[in-house]
Amino acid sequence: MAAKPILIIVDPQNDFIEGGSLAVSGAQKAMQELTDYLSTRLTLFDRIFVTQDFHPEDHCSFTEQGGTWPKHCVRETFGAEIFPPLKAVLDKCSGVEYCKKGQSKGRDQYSVFDVQNEEITNEDGKKIYDYLKSCEQFCVFMAGIAGDVCVLNTIKDLTQFVENGRIFVFKNFTASLDGGQKLDDYCKENSVNIFSV
Ligand SMILES: [Zn+2]
Repeated sequence: MAAKPILIIVDPQNDFIEGGSLAVSGAQKAMQELTDYLSTRLTLFDRIFVTQDFHPEDHCSFTEQGGTWPKHCVRETFGAEIFPPLKAVLDKCSGVEYCKKGQSKGRDQYSVFDVQNEEITNEDGKKIYDYLKSCEQFCVFMAGIAGDVCVLNTIKDLTQFVENGRIFVFKNFTASLDGGQKLDDYCKENSVNIFSV
């Protein structure tokens, strides 16, 4: 049986793109290239999961609450919405699921799985996990923002339960705060395939 190709796009949201409140350099280019790629290849993937940071107004990760990051991806705001050109392409496909994270005021979730004590604690992360488990074999392709934060943490969680699958990272569809070094290093050390198309 052929391995099912699955795409996970991490946080392709307006606030993480140039012009947003927590913009990552190169994010617009990466998301536009991903959009162009997908516009003719949507059917390549068996399923597409899109994760979304979806914070309350007073989330603990914001600097004004003593956290690390400027206010970003507040639910029901433009900043939390998916990069519009990408959303327009994804809307043409029925196999897309949106998975929210970071919804509790007091807890941040860089990874949609938010694995603690070997348990997945986020409901939307469980949906992805259940799907992966239902596949005899799968290949997960990763893209998104930020490569050294949420993409990296999602991959780290995935590697804990991918006995029946492999992980591939689209390097040119990923934008990192550090230019990509941490993600590159992790992939090389953990036999995760990182490549450009
Ligand atoms: Zn966040």
